[in-house]
Amino acid sequence: KVRVRFAPSPTGPLHIGGVRTALYNYLFAKKHKGDFILRIEDTDQSRYVAAAEDYIIESLNWCRIPFDEGPGKEGNYGPYRQSERKELYQKYAQELIENGNAYYAFDTPEELNQLRSVYEAKGEKFSYGPTTRNELNNSLHLTAEDIQERLNKQLDYVIRFKTPVNRSLNFKDEIRGYIEVETDNLDDKILFKSDGMPTYHLANIVDDYLMEISHVIRGEEWLPSLPLHILLYEAFGWKTPKFAHLPLILKPSGKGKLSKRDGDKEGFPVFPLNWKDPHTGETAIGYREEKYLPETVINMLAFLGWNPGTDQELFKLEELVEAFQISQVNKAGAKFDIQKTKWFQQQYMHEAPIDYLIQEFLPILREKGIEKSNAYIENVIETVKERAVFVTDFWELSWFYFSAPSGFDKKASTKAWKEDTDLLMQELIVVLEEIKDFSEDNLKAKVKPWIEAKGVGFGKVMQPLRLALVGAMRGPDVFHIASSVGQTECINRIQFAMK
Ligand code: GLU
Repeated sequence: KVRVRFAPSPTGPLHIGGVRTALYNYLFAKKHKGDFILRIEDTDQSRYVAAAEDYIIESLNWCRIPFDEGPGKEGNYGPYRQSERKELYQKYAQELIENGNAYYAFDTPEELNQLRSVYEAKGEKFSYGPTTRNELNNSLHLTAEDIQERLNKQLDYVIRFKTPVNRSLNFKDEIRGYIEVETDNLDDKILFKSDGMPTYHLANIVDDYLMEISHVIRGEEWLPSLPLHILLYEAFGWKTPKFAHLPLILKPSGKGKLSKRDGDKEGFPVFPLNWKDPHTGETAIGYREEKYLPETVINMLAFLGWNPGTDQELFKLEELVEAFQISQVNKAGAKFDIQKTKWFQQQYMHEAPIDYLIQEFLPILREKGIEKSNAYIENVIETVKERAVFVTDFWELSWFYFSAPSGFDKKASTKAWKEDTDLLMQELIVVLEEIKDFSEDNLKAKVKPWIEAKGVGFGKVMQPLRLALVGAMRGPDVFHIASSVGQTECINRIQFAMK
């Protein structure tokens, strides 16, 4: 059975790179009728941020990427927070020591620093591994009694992986194909620390095994760890899952990795939700608060590193599940494209349910002290939404449905308001006053013949009328605006414009 996991470390807010990893895992799982698991990798206490786990879960919820198992959604493989699985890792670290694949290292930080500078002086880089470990302060050349004595004395230690000497590793990544690595170029990574905590590598492998993860889909930054992970599976005698490393997400310029900072600098959000750092008080912009729709974020992220190989660009989550193929994920980095993101947003605005749009627009109107019926607001939204990218654009596109213009565009006034306009408008007011049913159709039916009968071109009346209603030469159909604001307001606005 396909079982995949998203395994963030709760060190801060979720970046869109993380959301993409979660999304691809979800799509892969659902495509293969499998499970998508959320595992919180919180073993690094020094980088732990308490609010981050809730933020991660809320972000996934907002994006509508549901997980099948995870914190608060216990399955058969829990607990799903590594800090609650501590005891397990100790046992597995011991197992590796016993079968000769790991060892205690007692080197102090000072000793290691000293070594580093000795190597540096020679222009080399020190690495604790197959070629150096025999001369270092570790259990590889101590007797069982000596080791026990040190442990009894409670000397600080770490447990390191014993990388096999002089072997060529050959393994496959589902996206990158075959990769070859010489073990002599690897170092003996720390697996466990004397504070009782495992490092990422050990906890990650043990949990993937115990949670029966079939495919590991994660960011490219973890590719350098893959040889060690492969060796760890081998050392435990466990079957390896399949691996797929997703391409980096690059800055819009293509130069370098998209970073958290880019959100502020280049004016686009990098986080699904706004985030306020509890330590620094720094805030970062989120898609949700910028009024992007979850559909936009999903569609845009799906295309950052993948495409269906057809011309279709708009994909809802269910459609992505259908179309997604891990073999179609690109190797090359994917450039973040804000214009494209806005384009997706515009497409989804057109299809967004009207009730949702009303609910989002209401607080903006309320803030301006405007109270209107939902039916009225719906009518306005339906008229302007084609031209809106965000709900926040509605006001700019439609304010004249809610309040009269306080001034008039100079250029437009000179063009539309001629010497005879005042007189024409006076006559128009008389026509408007007589109309009983002020509906758009009826307005048209009454005003058009009147203009024709007067024999003055259509624009001579309609342009000043628009100016009176909107204050400028823009906006939707004049009759629609006039009918919406109503007879009295319409006449008031014309009178105001005549002054
Ligand atoms: N905890 C790691 C992270 O924060 C997980 C990496 C992996 O998926 O193996 O990204």
